[in-house]
Amino acid sequence: MISSPAEKAARDLIEALGPLNLREGANRAIFDIPYTLDAEYGGIRIVEDFGLRIAIPDGYPLELPQVSETTDVIPRNYKHLYSNGSFCLGVNGELGAALSNDPSLPAFFDEFVVSYLYTAVFYLRYGRYPYGDRSHGAAGVLEYYSELFGTNSPQAYTIMRSIASGNYRGHLPCPCGSGIRGRNCHGKQILGILDSQMKKHVMADFRLIEAESETWISPWTFRPSDHGPSCTPRIFSSPVCSSLLARILTSSSSTSSPSPTPFQFR
Ligand SMILES: [Zn+2]
Repeated sequence: MISSPAEKAARDLIEALGPLNLREGANRAIFDIPYTLDAEYGGIRIVEDFGLRIAIPDGYPLELPQVSETTDVIPRNYKHLYSNGSFCLGVNGELGAALSNDPSLPAFFDEFVVSYLYTAVFYLRYGRYPYGDRSHGAAGVLEYYSELFGTNSPQAYTIMRSIASGNYRGHLPCPCGSGIRGRNCHGKQILGILDSQMKKHVMADFRLIEAESETWISPWTFRPSDHGPSCTPRIFSSPVCSSLLARILTSSSSTSSPSPTPFQFR
């Protein structure tokens, strides 16, 4: 019997979390699981029961899993939800880089879903975020890519635009505007993205910025949007993810272990 990456991911999750209810879905496997969040950060423990629905696309891990809730713990107007109700777990590029580095679904769950749920319940109870909040929508995406590329937001935008448009040429000035030839500036990072599945995620993030730009005053005056995706507050922001991407870019067969989590599980 041939086992697809999505099937293997599902089996791993069953092992990690217990029995699942499988539903048939178009081009994806959909699982409903009961999940008890029990996590502690900064001395504050949160325990909460959830029903979660996890959709694993056939293209997993190149395509990202989606997670939503079948219970009503998180209100629909919580700003870190997509319009279809699925969790905004992070910037596409960040999630894609994590899955490229380690396609284990339980690891993805521990890193992104657990911190998402902890953050959401913490916010509902205390009216603030436990470890800082990334900006929402396009501004949040650009914050991530600014850190990834080591630039400011306008420079990150022009690098992303170059990737999306396919017009990067190493002998031409770098799209970041440094005046240095691309191959001597951001060329290695750009080519690493263009030559990998990361290109798809970066383009998705770029489209999100473009879609939101209609509401901008100018490209460099970002309005926070309560409705924009992309904004999960994260414990690990870009330093970790940058190094993840750096590892992907330098080694296509990385076997490094996932980052340690500051959560304590009981
Ligand atoms: Zn550059």
